[in-house]
Amino acid sequence: MPTNLELKPDMQRDIPGPMAAFPESLTIPDAQGNPDRGWGKAHAPKNQRLEQVVRELLIELGADIHDQHFRGTPARVARLYRDLTQGYRLKPDEILTTFASNHHELIVVSDINFYSLCPHHLLIYRGKMHFGYVPNGKIVGLSKIPRLIQGMAARLIVQEDLVSEIADTFMVEVNPLGCVVRAMGRHDCVAVRGVKCHEAAMTTVALRGVFQEKSSLTEEFHQILSTSGRP
Ligand SMILES: [Zn+2]
Repeated sequence: MPTNLELKPDMQRDIPGPMAAFPESLTIPDAQGNPDRGWGKAHAPKNQRLEQVVRELLIELGADIHDQHFRGTPARVARLYRDLTQGYRLKPDEILTTFASNHHELIVVSDINFYSLCPHHLLIYRGKMHFGYVPNGKIVGLSKIPRLIQGMAARLIVQEDLVSEIADTFMVEVNPLGCVVRAMGRHDCVAVRGVKCHEAAMTTVALRGVFQEKSSLTEEFHQILSTSGRP
């Protein structure tokens, strides 16, 4: 069974060891800009190297790092990016606790907001995910699915691979008859650079198990979302 999500060797520098447990609440600032939750200062990873990289970036950009507005920026940005990439310390097998069940019909968890980072530009993309699965003797606690999705999104990963990896991880850890992940994301790298399309959104879908075999089941999933007024 996979434990920690794979971290490429060149990304391992300056990353703290595995956490004892994934924090109850994700610390990614929400759309209202609410401050960090979870990682208290006592548990903060050592960020000196990351802070130095941010300091050098500021200098390269022409900022006066002694100015009052920049003095705390390296530490602040280091904490921010640590939060946005905390999925590298995620342990899916510890999150996905299961319960025995005889339910063998479709279960849908919808409207799970997520944030992720585009690996090409290091800019945020955000949106909603919808998840469905057909159990095979085991169901998963409802809150565990948003935790898995938000946790796996908190990495540098393209949206196409993100939905695939979420589906594959769920299949390995929970062994359902099948699962489906649908994500719609708006990407800052499309909004603020290049074509500058603020409203463009990308939808990606991953189907596994019975969802690949029975199109009626996938249609039922999409139907549930559309009749609930979902995107
Ligand atoms: Zn990008």
